[in-house]
Amino acid sequence: MTETVASAALAVHENLIVQKRRIQNGKSRTRLSLVTGTHGDELEGQYLAYTVGKYLDENIDKLEGIVDIYPALNPMGIDSITRGIPMFDLDMNRIFPGSENGTMPEMLCAAIVSDISGSDICIDVHSSNIFLKEIPQIRMSVPTAPTLLPFAKLMNVDFVWIHDAATVLESTLAHTLNTRGTKTLVVEMGVGMRITKEYSSQLFEGILNLMKELGMWKGSTAPVREPLTSEGREVGFVNSDAAGIFVPCSHFGDTVKKDAHIGDVVDPLTSKVVEEVKAVCDGLIFTLREYPVVYGGSLLARILKPSAGGETE
Ligand SMILES: [Zn+2]
Repeated sequence: MTETVASAALAVHENLIVQKRRIQNGKSRTRLSLVTGTHGDELEGQYLAYTVGKYLDENIDKLEGIVDIYPALNPMGIDSITRGIPMFDLDMNRIFPGSENGTMPEMLCAAIVSDISGSDICIDVHSSNIFLKEIPQIRMSVPTAPTLLPFAKLMNVDFVWIHDAATVLESTLAHTLNTRGTKTLVVEMGVGMRITKEYSSQLFEGILNLMKELGMWKGSTAPVREPLTSEGREVGFVNSDAAGIFVPCSHFGDTVKKDAHIGDVVDPLTSKVVEEVKAVCDGLIFTLREYPVVYGGSLLARILKPSAGGETE
């Protein structure tokens, strides 16, 4: 059943409508909300929403509870491949919790929060941006980690990044929901404006596994991977010094040694390598630049350092 979560009139007899689809079976009221499309240039979640909904439709007798799928919190952004809300020049994930009496985007955010609140778990799927590709990961803040980490470990992601409280933005959907008692996991995977089918499949298995643990899924599940976590580890940032075209020579997901050659910044005019890019530490490359044009200071890669015990995996 498709429902309207929020709507707002547009200037010339059109409406902005945020929709969800409820898939329900059995008597249980246990509810999982799968949310995506806050950033209109992040499309990995579109395919995930499609595959999860399709599979549940085909195996509805195995479902015990409610799955709400919100594919496009920012529908105009997706229609126009705009990260923020078009015309408002506004990042939607910087105005939560919104306000019932606020501007149009604030009213939408308030209605969305109200609708998702009370879910037993919410999964908010993002896909980086057009510049960086991310290994499937879940991000959370230090204060929420004791509650969220056990659920994140069920999700078949490669990595769980626990951020210091100081770096957590309070105006995000996830922060708002977690603060109000609705457990919300933020997934980052893939790259903007693209679909990576294998990541979608990976998360799909994770969602079924999570549903099984919540007593919502009576069907089969596949074994899930144990994620690396950032607990007791540091993250190394590789930034460019020069401007030019970045050409990586390492692969996404590689484990590298400090000072390993991971790519070059080249100058197409002079055909010179202007910067040889080296790993800043040992570890796993979990973020790698996808968009070739770089300037001084551009982020090229993030590397997860081994734990103090020395092992990388
Ligand atoms: Zn995003």
